Amino acid sequence: MPLLHIDNLHLAMRSFDGEAHVLNGVELKVDKGEIWGLAGETGCGKSVTGLSVSRLLGTPPARYLQGRILFDGQDVLTMDERAMRRLRGRAISMIFQDPSTNLNPVLRVGEQIADVAFEIGRHAPEVLGLGPQTGLAERRRAAKQLGVDMLERVGIPDAARRAHDYPHQFSGGMRQRVLIAMALVGQPRLLIADEPTTALDVTLQAQILRLLSDLVKRSDTAVLMITHNLGVVAQICSHVAVMYAGHVVESGRTREVLRSPQHPYTRALLAALPRPGVPRGQLANLPGRVPDLIRPPPGCRFAPRCARATSACTVATPASVAVSDQHLVACIHLDEVPP
Ligand code: SF4
Repeated sequence: MPLLHIDNLHLAMRSFDGEAHVLNGVELKVDKGEIWGLAGETGCGKSVTGLSVSRLLGTPPARYLQGRILFDGQDVLTMDERAMRRLRGRAISMIFQDPSTNLNPVLRVGEQIADVAFEIGRHAPEVLGLGPQTGLAERRRAAKQLGVDMLERVGIPDAARRAHDYPHQFSGGMRQRVLIAMALVGQPRLLIADEPTTALDVTLQAQILRLLSDLVKRSDTAVLMITHNLGVVAQICSHVAVMYAGHVVESGRTREVLRSPQHPYTRALLAALPRPGVPRGQLANLPGRVPDLIRPPPGCRFAPRCARATSACTVATPASVAVSDQHLVACIHLDEVPP
């Protein structure tokens, strides 16, 4: 049984103009220790999928139409809020995009990590290295110490002293390390990282990705890395799922998907990547735009932009077919895609 199984998830989102069918049968299986990249253009449903797994979307405006999200065999969509609160932070945790808006500016960084550790320690005292009958004062002391230990683990020099600093005294890269420390303090089994390096420059990006990959490998944590950047996917993800307009169109081991993409959308995304030697203005670009999800096109949602589309493509959403072990592609004209 996979650690996470998103099974045929359909979700609609209410807006002023009508209800958008944002997720259209998302399928994904993540095992422990795997790092999955969830890739695609802005608006393809990556973040909504991540937020659904930790059930952080308000309902309304969101409405789950169909499907399940099984974490360790249990459907998170049917859990009560109390059970979800225990799951979040402890078993499933998240890293958000912008460290400057996700840390409290008036609390010291060590205190912010300790608060998360203290809260998790309420139900899981073993995270703090304590037994079940430990008193509040002891829990507070252990949470504070764990805050410092986590800062050290994410590479903040002189952690015991820096724990007393405020977020504005840290650089952008250091603030992102603090967010990673907060996300990993409960020893989660699944980490959802939503564009964790987008706000950083390229050198810092590489450092943070290396750190994240080392930390999760050591603990066997599974990761869902939400990104629009295929370079990030190539750097640290063992697997990748490419999404288009709320549907996973291609998925599999990163090396295989990136070396031998089968879906016309994945091919177009890769062709549009800047490469050394390709002069400016000569990169392939994908014509058209992501469709309006209030009135999505019938059948394959990529059809209006796909050079291979035929009338058969507009009949139904293409089912995923296996082109090799673990490599799935949702396209009905696969046999006609040139190698
Ligand atoms: Fe293109 Fe048709 Fe395949 Fe969709 S199903 S990607 S429209 S060829």
